[in-house]
Amino acid sequence: METGVPVGEVYLVGAGPGAADLLTLRALRLMQAVDVVVYDRLVGQGVLDLLPATVERIFVGKMRDRHVCPQAGINRLLVDLARAGKRVLRLKGGDPFIFGRGGEELESLAAAGIPFQVVPGVTAATGCAAYAGIPLTHREHAQTLVFVTGHTKDGEPDLDWPTLARPGQTLVVYMGIKALGSLCRRLIEHGLPATTPAALIENGTYDHQQVVSATLATLPARAPDPRLAGPTLIVVGAVVALGRQLGWFSGAGVPPGAALSDADGPAGLDGASLDGGAPGASG
Ligand code: SAH
Repeated sequence: METGVPVGEVYLVGAGPGAADLLTLRALRLMQAVDVVVYDRLVGQGVLDLLPATVERIFVGKMRDRHVCPQAGINRLLVDLARAGKRVLRLKGGDPFIFGRGGEELESLAAAGIPFQVVPGVTAATGCAAYAGIPLTHREHAQTLVFVTGHTKDGEPDLDWPTLARPGQTLVVYMGIKALGSLCRRLIEHGLPATTPAALIENGTYDHQQVVSATLATLPARAPDPRLAGPTLIVVGAVVALGRQLGWFSGAGVPPGAALSDADGPAGLDGASLDGGAPGASG
């Protein structure tokens, strides 16, 4: 397409699970250097507050079951903004390559010949586990770690139950709260003891994080109403029990004096250079 305008670039950036100070320095630098940000529902307000006022903001989040902007429309929007010469920050909750459709967005950019870069983020599994004091692997309890999505169009998730119900592993389920009852039941049916520790972490890493720690048998009855709950992660496995001893986060945030208050000014973070030695990927 010949517009005479130099093509912009798209930065696919993970915003982390919620707490703003879990952003990477690279994400922060890019936030301070782009023209427009295209962001999702899961990006925390504290992260958005770190954007300079001059950056245009476009919300393309999906409210559960109600698509504000279908994926094809988001793909097209990113291409159009870049073709208009903009530097575009595509900001996603967690890590863009973990249940984030980041791959689909990059495929469409690559097909359109738009240059892009990818910045990883702290994914919900590692962020929530850290803030709930649940070590996802442990030499005595879990040698395998599995991330799955519990998302279903209608009803039961279609998962490889025998694999998920193996002993000696930790299972982390994204988007699973609606299917929690059938998930726990299926895991028991496929051989996990009903007493296997299982937890829900709601609004993980935010000050209002809630952890419900129970067992496969008892967790469903203790879950919040999925229609009212914030983003919620399910963790199953022996390591969950360690959270009772290792849970440390009370919502109090970082120690005094370490607040992320000068984000728009510290040396080296002013976003002047976007290429900073990192190879840019292009389509
Ligand atoms: N790309 C994201 C995941 C998007 S899928 C990442 O890497 O984290 C959305 C699911 O992620 C939610 O349904 C929930 O299961 C989980 N999730 C995201 N943020 C969360 C949070 N702060 N607390 C608990 N679960 C979260």
